[in-house]
Amino acid sequence: MSGHTDMVLVDENGMRIDGRTAEEHRPIKIEAGVLHNADGSAYVEIGKNKVLAAVYGPRECHPRHLQNPQKAIVQVKYNMEAYSVSDRKRPGTDRRSIEISKITAEALEKVVLTELYPRASIDVYIEILQANAGTRCAGLTAASVALADAGIPMRDIVPAIAAGKADGNVLLDLNKEEDNYGQADVPIAIVPSTDEIVLLQMDGNMTRAEFDHAIELAVNACHEVHDLQVDALKRRYSKNQEASQ
Ligand code: ADP
Repeated sequence: MSGHTDMVLVDENGMRIDGRTAEEHRPIKIEAGVLHNADGSAYVEIGKNKVLAAVYGPRECHPRHLQNPQKAIVQVKYNMEAYSVSDRKRPGTDRRSIEISKITAEALEKVVLTELYPRASIDVYIEILQANAGTRCAGLTAASVALADAGIPMRDIVPAIAAGKADGNVLLDLNKEEDNYGQADVPIAIVPSTDEIVLLQMDGNMTRAEFDHAIELAVNACHEVHDLQVDALKRRYSKNQEASQ
């Protein structure tokens, strides 16, 4: 955001640099149950983003002072691998990864039936293997599928996607160039059965009308992402059925 470029991000025909229209998201691929040693897992690609999520739990909460006698807590660790970006990223936790872990946990706690598991922890690990803007949304989308794959009771599965603004146009699902040189980025996650928004952030500036349009685009796209999440879980379930026959 706020960078400057001579690059035309949206041409006179409304086409973006990767050939998409304003209202198109990047190609999305979702797979459930990709890791053997975790209780649940998922792999997500959104454009050039490649993300793995793994879930352990519910299990005894550590550190113990975090235990809640009324419900389980959801602990999320979002991590960008050193090789996920073109300039090697300094490994380890930073302010950005702490922020993304926190907002992801808050979104997931809205759907996980945490009250069923007092004092427990549900641990979610999100690994960004390759980043190209939109990794917090890809990570949350993958984490929701991994939780379902782990058999953790949930009210719904949370999909996430961003909308934003570049070259004065409201665009769905910004890529890296649009994110770097655009005017706004608005990641959103919803509970599809109610359209409740469980994650909403905004970086940059938009008018109220642009903001409303961005929300509309992102909420509609979240429903498409949700369909792909459900398809991935169905494929996983039928594979399990075949293996047990
Ligand atoms: P998101 O990935 O959710 O869009 P940001 O807006 O913070 O989150 O980041 C946008 C993109 O900028 C990331 O997807 C990644 O491609 C790049 N990026 C973020 N942090 C770093 C970093 N420390 N080093 C290099 N690139 C980064």
